Amino acid sequence: MPFNKSEYIWFNGEFVAWDDAKVHVLSHALHYGSSIFEGIRAYDTPKGPAVFRLKEHVRRLFESCKVYRMEIPFTPEEIEKAIVDTVAKNGLKGCYIRPLVFRGYEQLGVSPFGCPVEVIVAAWDWGKYLVGEADEAKGVRAGVSSWRRMAPDTFPAAVKAGGHYTNSQLLNMEAHEHGYDEAIALDVYGYVAEGSGENIFMVRDGELLTPQAGSILGGITRNAVLKIASELGYTTHEVQIAREHLYIADELFFCGTAAEITPIGSVDGLPVGNGLVGPITEAIRERFFDIATGKAPDVYGWLTHAS
Ligand code: PMP
Repeated sequence: MPFNKSEYIWFNGEFVAWDDAKVHVLSHALHYGSSIFEGIRAYDTPKGPAVFRLKEHVRRLFESCKVYRMEIPFTPEEIEKAIVDTVAKNGLKGCYIRPLVFRGYEQLGVSPFGCPVEVIVAAWDWGKYLVGEADEAKGVRAGVSSWRRMAPDTFPAAVKAGGHYTNSQLLNMEAHEHGYDEAIALDVYGYVAEGSGENIFMVRDGELLTPQAGSILGGITRNAVLKIASELGYTTHEVQIAREHLYIADELFFCGTAAEITPIGSVDGLPVGNGLVGPITEAIRERFFDIATGKAPDVYGWLTHAS
């Protein structure tokens, strides 16, 4: 999807023009995937733009950096402020926000130490991901991938690192080559893990099931879905899910910052349930958007207003 350019990008503590936010081609991150990032959305609410779950995203950014021994030269509060300021400075309403921490230019070799740790925050106007508005009633076509998510002792799946997304790209490209909208990856043991950039939930007999931690990114939207599901009175389970359970699920949906709550209409060509968006998916999606867009009271304290 081409960019809807904004005016400014926050770069190491200062705003620079979008087109001037550049790095050297010998930056470490470019060669070895040594970057950590977040994907955050702000929603247009009656009280102005509101960043969804800002603190949780910044916390995951710092935790991801800790695992890869990257010292962010700013405090969490400074990064939170940079995010809010980037939305406000660009006059954005609903938007997608991309904080990125990366190893920059100084020396080149596998060892990342010695390269400066740099930080940017960009934000731009962005619509739906995965699904066009017209397709929302049907859900997306998903296919189980021949590529697996990483084994727990290979890459730290709970960390949102740039390098991990080479795996996501393989998943995503294969799905499109096979005529699907998105991939469902299994873990190294053969159990369902997640999409290339989303977590996954299934509904069976009125209960929600989602894969447990180990080979998945612990999504902030996944966490919101678990909370909303409990609030609405549904039992939730974080468990191992076998591939065939996808085929006999009553309902299935992806969730993530970009994907929000995206119903899955078919898996490997088999319709999910009766092929229409299910009532539990719909109820969760509605409650999610009501809170995110400020239509319902922010009972969980998930919104940070940007202006
Ligand atoms: N899994 C992967 C691999 C992802 O890239 C994402 C998107 N960040 C998610 C799950 C969902 O995470 P979140 O809800 O925090 O956006």
